[in-house]
This record gives sequence, C-alpha cells and structure tokens, in this order.
Amino acid sequence: MRDSEFGPVQIVEVSPRDGLQADPADVTTANKVALVERLIAAGNTRIEAASFVSPKAVPKMADGDAVMAGVRSLAGADTVSFSALALNVRGVERAIAAGVGEVTGVVVASETFSQRNQNATVAESIERWKHISAAARAAGVRTSVTISAAFGCPFEGRIDPTRVASIAAELVATEPDELALADTIGVAVPTQVHGLFSTVNDVCGSGPLALRAHFHNTRNTALANIAAALDEGVRIFDSSLGGVGGCPFAPRATGNVATEDVVYMIEQMGYETGIDLDALINAAAWLEDVLGHGIPGLVSKAGGFPTGEHLSH
Ligand code: ZN
Repeated sequence: MRDSEFGPVQIVEVSPRDGLQADPADVTTANKVALVERLIAAGNTRIEAASFVSPKAVPKMADGDAVMAGVRSLAGADTVSFSALALNVRGVERAIAAGVGEVTGVVVASETFSQRNQNATVAESIERWKHISAAARAAGVRTSVTISAAFGCPFEGRIDPTRVASIAAELVATEPDELALADTIGVAVPTQVHGLFSTVNDVCGSGPLALRAHFHNTRNTALANIAAALDEGVRIFDSSLGGVGGCPFAPRATGNVATEDVVYMIEQMGYETGIDLDALINAAAWLEDVLGHGIPGLVSKAGGFPTGEHLSH
C-alpha cells in the first residue's frame, strides 16, 4: 500500500493540459484559467495546468506562462499543487519560472511509439528525464514521471511487463516523488492492470515513492481498470473533467476517463476524494459550452445518486 501526503484517494485533474491539448476546440487563456477556477471550487487540490514544450510542436499549449500566472492568482490557489509537463531542461526551467509545484515527464514504454511521439529513443527519453528531474529537484519542485503506453502500443501491441519494470527501475533510481503508468491508447483490461502494478510495485520497493494511474476510456475499460488499481494499492488517479482529451491515433475515440465518473465510483465505494460531485457536474456542463461539442462523461449526464447529492458513508 502506498499512501501519499494528500489524502485517501487523490485525483489529479488533467483537463487543462492533457484534456484540452487533444480537444479540437481552441480554448482561450481566460477560459483555461476559468476552468481551473471551477476545478479549485470543486475541491481539486492537484491540477495539471500547463505544459512547457515547444510551442511549434503544441501550439494549443503555447500560453503556459500566462495560464500559470492566471491560476496562481485565483482564490484558493495556495491549496493546489499545479503541475506542468516538461520534456527537456528548457521546459523545466520555464515551468519553474512560471511557479509550478510539480514537474511531470514522460517516458514511452514502446520503442516505436517513443520515436514517433517523442522523437527520441526510450534510452534518450530516460536520459532527458534525468536532467529534467535534477533541475526540478534542485529548485525544490516535486517530480513525477509517467511511463506512457505502458499497457499497449499502437505499433507494437501489448507491452511486455518486464520491459515496463526495467524502465520503472531506471526511473525509480532518479527518486521521483511519483511514478505513473499510463494506458495512453486505452487498451488495458483489469487483469493486466493487476499484473503490471503488482510488478512495478515490487520494483519500487518500500520507499516513499507513490504510484499513480492514468487510464483512458477509449474502449470503456477505464473504471474497471481503476478498480483493479485500487486493489493493487494505487491511491492516485489522473482524470479529466467531462472525459475531454481524445486519442491522437483514434480521432473519434474517447480519451481520458471522466473525473466525475471516477469521483462518483470511488466515493460510492467508500473512498474520500475531497471533491464535490455536483460542482464537478456543473463545471463539466460549463466546459461543454466552452468547447462547443458534447463530452463523453456519463455522470455529468445522469447526475449523482441520490440525484443531486452525495451518499454519506
Ligand atoms: Zn491522457
């Protein structure tokens, strides 16, 4: 079991970055900040707010500095750990200057996906992470690293768990605060989740490192996978308001699991998230208007149970 400093189950809300980056809509800086304002009001304490990667590669996230300045001045911002993605030392320097509390990096589990998506081999990505991590740690900023496509790759199929374990071992050696396994293309099933988290748990040892899970609902397996990860002791989950954020390899497919669906399920299972479901549902409706298209989350359509309020437990 790996408890973390934030509480029984933590939700890391990724809609402002992972979600909006993959959405067809162009969202203004003001609306990105307004989204974070609603997330804070709903009780989120961990929010992936921005990325500091090449603006040429990801123009939608070019306003990271302005977003960070905006969100840091919001009421309640001091209760929130804002994270940002950085893929090189230049990015981590910008992220630190912008005042992020946590830098996240990515290493892809599959060689083909890594070279196509990150323009680097897996070994090169691990080297980059070492530099990113060192810079963040020197600045007193939390570090977390994600092994993406950990369950499956669009080019190589299922990923051998021993391969993920050996990447995890190299990353654990950099002493991150958190290590995440991501099902980037939404192909994982619960048996696989049990197996891989159990394997990686063994690699991590008994130190303070926390494990996080990032599931996509592309094939409707995300909540089942979260339940499996809970069984393996995982207590930190990424999710995206409304389920925004598609998959670049399947343009019409659902991407990130919806935060309101996750919060509904795990609160009904008896875990505390500290997040207000009604506020999330209202925020999801607002986001749908901003994006100008429907969102895949289900609980934002059906409501909580009993309607409009939490069950006590
Ligand atoms: Zn995602």
